[in-house]
Amino acid sequence: MLALSTARSTCTRCTRKQRQLFSKSEILTKRVLSRQFASTSKSTSSSSTSSDGTTNRSRWFGRRIAITFLGLTIPTTYFFLPSSPGITPHLYSDQTVSCTKTISPQHKLITVDIPSKSIEYFMKPFRRDGSLANSGIERQQSQQDQQNQQNQQGEDDKKEWEIVIQHMMIKSPDIQIERPYTPINDPTKDDQVRMVVKRVRGGEVGRVVHNLKDGDQVGIRGPIPTCSIFPNRYDKIIMISTGTAISPFLQLLSKLPSQHPPNSSSISTPTAAPSTVNHSKPQLHLIHSLPLEGREDWSSSNIDKSFIPCLQDKFGDQLKVTRINPGFIPKETIINSLRDEVKGNKRNILVLICLPPMLMRPLCGDMTPNLGQGPITGILGELGLTNDNVWKLE
Ligand SMILES: Cc1cc2nc3c(=O)[nH]c(=O)nc-3n(C[C@H](O)[C@H](O)[C@H](O)COP(=O)(O)OP(=O)(O)OC[C@H]3O[C@@H](n4cnc5c(N)ncnc54)[C@H](O)[C@@H]3O)c2cc1C
Repeated sequence: MLALSTARSTCTRCTRKQRQLFSKSEILTKRVLSRQFASTSKSTSSSSTSSDGTTNRSRWFGRRIAITFLGLTIPTTYFFLPSSPGITPHLYSDQTVSCTKTISPQHKLITVDIPSKSIEYFMKPFRRDGSLANSGIERQQSQQDQQNQQNQQGEDDKKEWEIVIQHMMIKSPDIQIERPYTPINDPTKDDQVRMVVKRVRGGEVGRVVHNLKDGDQVGIRGPIPTCSIFPNRYDKIIMISTGTAISPFLQLLSKLPSQHPPNSSSISTPTAAPSTVNHSKPQLHLIHSLPLEGREDWSSSNIDKSFIPCLQDKFGDQLKVTRINPGFIPKETIINSLRDEVKGNKRNILVLICLPPMLMRPLCGDMTPNLGQGPITGILGELGLTNDNVWKLE
């Protein structure tokens, strides 16, 4: 009984307090209302004020509730709804494929736009060893500073200026496997990655990519460093490839600055970021196999500004392109390309090779099972080139 009466008295106290609070808040509300009401009713007659009092009060409450509701929901939504995902090297995100083009029965060109928050990964690329490469932002800064260009040029030439070739990983949503694909363009200039994907018989990720339509989503991560190059160190860079293995070289040529005035081509040539900065000029030689008979030679078409014809417009005499028959790389082609340099300073040549193992082996020897470079043997070894001059791309 005592407990009950205590509980009841506590309860009464509570209700009394509550009632006091309510009446206080009621008085306050009334005061605010009367103030607001007075200000709004100045223009209207006093009779209408009294008759519309309840309507105005409910309007005022409605407004209050709406403001409170918005005040709570907007920050909650902001914090709890996932923001649009960026492209990162370590985590997959679904990104919209903005454009797909069938460029041959076996090849599809896909474009994925890079969210602005992810462009940093392309501007400040990492090397394979995880360290930060000496490119990107520094190039942009020297470009901005047109006034100090002359002074800057000397500084830049001395710098170990670097280009990192990067690739992306694309995932199959059905079975959790991923495959690497190399953008053909310079993503820092285009804010997008464009990749040529070959469909091979029974190929899983190739199938996924070839089924994509404009506006579809694809699981992607990257960029991941393939290799990095210091163009200023070389008098000549030779690139040897076949099929889609040309992609890293198309990317390299898209990223390299040109000193050749762009031609008035129907497709605009990429305006190289540091073209105003006169970096030392490596001679460029692309040796690329022709496709098998009956297959389309997509890389020599004008479909994309990163394909061979536009790059030739961009580089002019600086870039030599040699097309060879499909199959083994002829020794004479290599000897001809190396002729002048081998007589002189071999250290100033870089040979980049992106070929299937069957073609890479006789040219320069295999990569090691854990994708190390391995010794330089084969034709390039016979010509006296070493690991200082040759880089094998997987
Ligand atoms: C660093 C790097 C960058 C790459 N960049 C590109 C690129 O830009 N574009 C591109 O198309 N590919 C590129 N590749 C190859 C690509 O990653 C895949 O290996 C290829 O697309 C096959 O994947 P898939 O899932 O379709 O076929 P899978 O399911 O892996 O293979 C199915 C079958 O096809 C065979 N096969 C695999 N590849 C080939 C081939 N090239 N020719 C003939 N048969 C093959 C396999 O041995 C297997 O028997 C790159 C590879 C590396 C390592």
